[in-house]
Amino acid sequence: KEAKPQEEKKEDKKEEELLVPPDIIRRSEILNLEYRQGPEIPALKYDFPDSHFICFPYETRRTGIYAAGCSHRPMGIGSTKEDGAGAAMKAIQCIELTSRGAAVHPRAGDLTFPEFAMQRCTQCKRCTVECPFGAINEDEKANPLPQPTRCRRCGVCMGACPERIISFKNYSVGMIGNMIKAINVPAEEDEKPRILVLACENDAYPALDMAGLRRMNYAPWYRVVPLRCLGSMNLVWIADSLSKGIDGVLLLGCKHGDDYQCHFIKGSELSSIRLSKVSETLNRLALESDRVRFETVSIIDYEKLPALLNEFAEKLQEIGPNPFKGW
Ligand code: SF4
Ligand code: SF4
Repeated sequence: KEAKPQEEKKEDKKEEELLVPPDIIRRSEILNLEYRQGPEIPALKYDFPDSHFICFPYETRRTGIYAAGCSHRPMGIGSTKEDGAGAAMKAIQCIELTSRGAAVHPRAGDLTFPEFAMQRCTQCKRCTVECPFGAINEDEKANPLPQPTRCRRCGVCMGACPERIISFKNYSVGMIGNMIKAINVPAEEDEKPRILVLACENDAYPALDMAGLRRMNYAPWYRVVPLRCLGSMNLVWIADSLSKGIDGVLLLGCKHGDDYQCHFIKGSELSSIRLSKVSETLNRLALESDRVRFETVSIIDYEKLPALLNEFAEKLQEIGPNPFKGW
């Protein structure tokens, strides 16, 4: 049966307001999965399954389904056999891990999963729409129905929830909030800015580490907090940082777009969409939107980091101290 391209429909006005680009779901009537996004796997523009091509080539965005051979990309018989063996190994690993309640890669073996404090849920659908892996279905009243065996533990749902009611045993909005609270902010008369970096632990954080190991120098005013994925960034961390007097916040994530490098597919892109909505609020609070910046880096970009960090620090010095300092 010929596959018909069909974009995921936005279900109502509330969902339209989320501004998340819809996935392309091809309908082939083969898999018939029970996912709110549709019964097939999200695809790329030539109908091949969407996956992180560099790091997880057999992956699809449906946990437990692995693509091999010509269903994965154009290839000959020899490569198809090799590809099939690779995908089968991944499938075995998936059965073994999920049977004991653990996550598959990239957080292979993680035993935590998102927990929802449902009494405060407003049924806003952000978590169900933004989960890159379709791991949260919903009932007819739009209550989220988490499916832990599908979950990759990226934390995107945690970053998306405006009520901050989604958390993991070892990762929560409160935990990162406390790390930010613990950062020392020099007084205005010290004339030393303080800058927070929220860095993706997959690429940006190792790139910072590489720069450090190679003894590269950059402005000493930075304090770095690693995140599972920049998509788990909750806007409250930015609000809390600026209201505490931190002079600027730099978000370091992975490249997004057609040749994305985000291990969780959409995390970095979602984070930049969230950030675009925060600029107006900052201007309203008489805080320059230039105080918050989003940059993408890959692990091999470590040599570019000192210039990038120094340029942002100079920009913040030009803007002057955060007016909330000392309040
Ligand atoms: S942690 Fe990631 S994969 Fe799991 S439910 Fe949340 S958004 Fe989906
Ligand atoms: S994002 Fe939070 S408030 Fe909105 S539906 Fe999900 S759990 Fe409920």
